[in-house]
Amino acid sequence: MAELSLSNIVKRFGGFEIIHGANLEVKDGEFVVFVGPSGCGKSTLLRMIAGLEDITSGELQIGGRVVNDVEPADRGIAMVFQSYALYPHLTVEENLSFGLRMNGNPKADTERRVRHVAEILQITELMKRRPKQLSGGQRQRVAIGRAIVREPQVFLFDEPLSNLDAELRVQMRVEISRLHKKLGTTMIYVTHDQTEAMTLADRIVVLRAGNIEQIGAPLDLYDDPANQFVAGFVGSPKMNFLKAVVVDTQPGRAVIALESDANTRLKLPVADPIEAGAKVTLGIRPEHFVDAGTGDADLTVTIDVAEHLGNTSYIYATIGPEQLIIERPESRVAGNRETLTVGLPANRSFLFDGAGKRLR
Ligand code: ATP
Repeated sequence: MAELSLSNIVKRFGGFEIIHGANLEVKDGEFVVFVGPSGCGKSTLLRMIAGLEDITSGELQIGGRVVNDVEPADRGIAMVFQSYALYPHLTVEENLSFGLRMNGNPKADTERRVRHVAEILQITELMKRRPKQLSGGQRQRVAIGRAIVREPQVFLFDEPLSNLDAELRVQMRVEISRLHKKLGTTMIYVTHDQTEAMTLADRIVVLRAGNIEQIGAPLDLYDDPANQFVAGFVGSPKMNFLKAVVVDTQPGRAVIALESDANTRLKLPVADPIEAGAKVTLGIRPEHFVDAGTGDADLTVTIDVAEHLGNTSYIYATIGPEQLIIERPESRVAGNRETLTVGLPANRSFLFDGAGKRLR
């Protein structure tokens, strides 16, 4: 079994605390993705799991065994880095077999494993080449292959695709997903790319400034973000945030007016009591606007740039000093226009207080 358990993991560098007590249970065979902005501590958390960084306090278990003080090589993990770290003077085949040969693994078994990995990753025809004779995607495949031959209990990936161009990144993303299905091994993957997180993960861990903000399945985070930070991080293009003020309250409900257009008012259910006059933020995803007249309020925006992609359009617009993105079916916005009126559906709207706490 290769489940992972992090309890109260803290990391300090010098006097400075970087990870503030992380708790996470990863199930055997699960694909978990750590996401968050630069510097939030994703890599540090992964490196502690790998054993490349000491754990300041807290307990890390892999497969039911406390491994805080176990050497990286004895943790049953293999790590794939952003830089492929292949040996330039060795062939692909030698790169793949290097670790096993160093460990004195029997020759026949090493050959069998290397052949098997080459088949899985479709690099059999590249075995005699050296890294500099490979494309970026092929090199990354060899790097992943080097991790697979070790038959680890857990794979750790640290932004493995960030050096690849956009097209290759999508292709490798699908390959990693396929690999996970095929191998069924526990995988932990670090990225700052929310699309990678959404498409690869069974569960996503969203980090901010050393704290876990939310853990959940991709669509749960999309539908039900815990706070404004997660709401803004999950989904592409990003959720729009518009400043608003509470103008009236009723039990369990609040009527809000947009700061940039006081005529746009929306009545929303709220979980906690809120006072009239409170400053709030309305959240609405670009894809959730509806036709004018069919929502719970209409909103007229000034079109800045319209991108027509054939099946859909992205409208970059402004309302007063605020910017927003609206995604609409092509037929609704074709042609040159200066303004656009769309409907705001209350049931797709989020509401946050001044501190980013979710009110609805
Ligand atoms: P990125 O996406 O930019 O790689 P990250 O979320 O992976 O960011 P980390 O690399 O884990 O972030 O860094 C978290 C914080 O810890 C940062 O503020 C970083 O400056 C700090 N940090 C990382 N390594 C060290 C170190 N060896 N000594 C001191 N501070 C460090």
